[in-house]
Amino acid sequence: MSELILEAVDLEYSYPDGTKALRNVNLQVHKGEKLAILGSNGAGKSTLFMQFNGIFRPNSGTIKYQGEDISYKNKALIELRKKVGIVFQDPDSQLFSASVWQDISFGPLNLGLPEEVVIERAKQALIDTETTDLEDKPTHLLSYGQKKRVSIAGVLAMEPDVIIFDEPTAGLDPRHSKEFMLLLEKLSLEGKTIILSTHDVDLAYFWSDKMAIMFGGEIIAHGDPGELFRRPEIVKQADLTLPWLIEMHSELVQKGWLPPSTPLPKTREDLFRSIPAKNDKAG
Ligand code: ADP
Repeated sequence: MSELILEAVDLEYSYPDGTKALRNVNLQVHKGEKLAILGSNGAGKSTLFMQFNGIFRPNSGTIKYQGEDISYKNKALIELRKKVGIVFQDPDSQLFSASVWQDISFGPLNLGLPEEVVIERAKQALIDTETTDLEDKPTHLLSYGQKKRVSIAGVLAMEPDVIIFDEPTAGLDPRHSKEFMLLLEKLSLEGKTIILSTHDVDLAYFWSDKMAIMFGGEIIAHGDPGELFRRPEIVKQADLTLPWLIEMHSELVQKGWLPPSTPLPKTREDLFRSIPAKNDKAG
């Protein structure tokens, strides 16, 4: 297995008003991994993300980046945020420049990169998020979905090693959701480590290598997505539904169309391939 890149160790965190948001959170993320975090509203996903790049500091426990406890000194935090980028759930909390171009180039400019590198990175980020036609637009005139894509572009332009997406597809139309998944695939192929939170169990199931399920500030399960969705007690506790591929698979097994030994399909093509033609016998 590849090396650890990010780790939460015995994290506890309460907000200043006393809300206990994280309880004994332990999570290991490996380099290049695709990790999906599932959990209902208020489970603690965003709070955990903000621990990962030092926006919040745990009451106890530690965050480790490449095996070292992160430091909360200003300079160290700036370095950490070059490596661990977060795309927030609400794009309005991320966009603050007057125009799309200014917003996307702000991060790399701030890194002190040469102008031609800034331009190159910003252009690539515009292409990757299909926002090239918006580059001169004032950010406050964008639609929600456009703002979301621009906020993703701003983080991509920083070229972090770990990219955290908080509910990335919420508010995107089906075409842009699909394009976003292709972008995730491209980033994975480039070796990026990707963590995303989502309510979309289908997306979490087919996309992730590993899944963590949060409930009440705790990680109640972490492991292979197929195995976790086969644990009814976990699915029930976290208030999740089952991915349609798994539901369809169990229905087909139950009705005798598929032998019980048929492996869980990871994609719709896997499922369709496993269904026998009309005159074939199951098994
Ligand atoms: P999720 O991202 O899974 O929806 P959050 O991390 O946003 O969950 O919230 C975890 C818990 O912390 C919830 O009970 C939420 O109400 C609480 N919380 C979030 N932000 C604040 C805040 N700024 N002050 C007090 N409580 C907060």
